Amino acid sequence: MPRYDYRCRSCGATFELSRPMSASGDPAACPEGHDDTVKLLSTVAVTGGAAAPVQRPSGGGGGGCCGGGCCG
Ligand SMILES: [Zn+2]
Repeated sequence: MPRYDYRCRSCGATFELSRPMSASGDPAACPEGHDDTVKLLSTVAVTGGAAAPVQRPSGGGGGGCCGGGCCG
């Protein structure tokens, strides 16, 4: 079952729910009980598409992923 990330706009919490794909658009209450939440972009890997291998820059410093909140 895919997992989806949500963010609460009331308290700012981010949380994750496992739910059927058909329910991905359903409202999700945050752990604090707020229902003013937004679904974040899924990080679930898509299979069967253009499968390019992930390439790491050689000899560089630090990953560039953590600036936009995709790493939690
Ligand atoms: Zn909340």
